[in-house]
Amino acid sequence: MKVIKFGGTSIGASDLFLKVAKIISDRSEKEFTIVVLSAFGGITDKLLEAIKFAGKGNQKYIDILEKIKSIHYEFLSKVVTSGNRQQFLNRINNLFIELENKLKGVFLLQECSNRISDSIVTYGEYLSNCLMVCLLKSQGKESEFYDAKKLIRTNSNYGDAEVNFAATNHLLQEWFNRLNQDHIPIVNGFTGSDENGHITTLGRSGSDYTATIIGAALKASIVEIWTDVDGVLSADPKVVSSAITLHQLSYNEATSLAVLGGKVIHPKTIAPVEKQNVPVSILNTFRLEARGTFIGRINNQNDANIKTITYLKGLSSISIFEPESKYCQIILFRLFGMLARLEIPVFTISKSAYKQSISFIVQSEYEHVFLEEIKREFVLEIEKGFISEATSRNNLALISAIGINSNFNSLVISRIHDVLENNGIKSLMFPYDPCSLNFSFIIDESEVNKTVIVLHKKFFEEYIYSKKESKVVNVA
Ligand code: ASP
Ligand code: MG
Repeated sequence: MKVIKFGGTSIGASDLFLKVAKIISDRSEKEFTIVVLSAFGGITDKLLEAIKFAGKGNQKYIDILEKIKSIHYEFLSKVVTSGNRQQFLNRINNLFIELENKLKGVFLLQECSNRISDSIVTYGEYLSNCLMVCLLKSQGKESEFYDAKKLIRTNSNYGDAEVNFAATNHLLQEWFNRLNQDHIPIVNGFTGSDENGHITTLGRSGSDYTATIIGAALKASIVEIWTDVDGVLSADPKVVSSAITLHQLSYNEATSLAVLGGKVIHPKTIAPVEKQNVPVSILNTFRLEARGTFIGRINNQNDANIKTITYLKGLSSISIFEPESKYCQIILFRLFGMLARLEIPVFTISKSAYKQSISFIVQSEYEHVFLEEIKREFVLEIEKGFISEATSRNNLALISAIGINSNFNSLVISRIHDVLENNGIKSLMFPYDPCSLNFSFIIDESEVNKTVIVLHKKFFEEYIYSKKESKVVNVA
């Protein structure tokens, strides 16, 4: 049994939708296949926009809703033959009536909680899934929609819910045992529900995660994630046009990539499958002949080169200067407690040996609350001059070289330093972990493109890596 997932860009136009239906049919003929679908490209953003307008009592939400409707009705008319269309129209109409009522409620109340927002934003998935079932049925295939709301159990952190794996795995197993294997099951990605039965979402781009949660629970032979690029690339192709496709990655490398800015998969995607040793393939809907990237338990002990270069923009550094080192421990203790309490994810930390300055790199959206909390927490210490006011700097980025084999760690790092030095790129922070498979550093956001380009040149264009001989050959 396999799980295949298609993202918004893979089903963003009617001809692609037909292509995806063909891939689904072909896959299903060979092996029992569970399909996970996200919303059509751009629809989730449109729904969020409609919610925003409705919540402000602005009638513009109606225009957006009309646009969403016309996109889906047009899809129906383009992909389903007229003889078959009428029977499916009712289902689509009903979904739109529900969606319209919910948005109207938000408009009248001029308020939208995260819970209500999740229950509205998931209509993108309900609509695309419904249309795929219609299409497959109109082509004479047996297919059924299964609502992930009944299969994925989460906490109530609406917008970015945490999965309760014990409950979810049980629900999925029970569902699977009863599943009729003569038809194609279609499951909506991104969606779950909490203990009270309220709809939750798994975070933006969460359908990848839905696919691996299902694949891991049911021990699928593979989870295929179909997207709009050839797989994982050596750098963002928008920055480096010569970026190459990586044919295999370890689970660890794939997780680092997802967390450190590689947009090809959702950051939480790999964890469930890694535990069950279920492999993942990233494949291109636009280029069926491309080999894609295989992610699994692979032995890459002989790989001397790094795998990929990623970047994460929109970061800020928050620094505190503490002149009297005797208070250092207690100040650190309170700062870390504060971060845990406010649930602020920290990308990296640096602390000087002398004069006790400490800096945290966080996403810029947390900068304000972190600064305010430091001010509040340390009001007395600041007054007495034990520590300085916190200062911040934004528009920073984290560049990461992913997949460094420990045997080549110092060689790779010294090369990175050389590249930065030779190109006049100043790094603000080098968090160093000799055991890590990655090397990351902070630079000014404006230097991202230049940095990625020169690093890529050094690691992927000047050096040809010979896998057989397990060594790096300098051809420059
Ligand atoms: N439709 C959702 C989003 O746009 C989930 C997904 O695409 O995976 O974020
Ligand atoms: Mg995606």
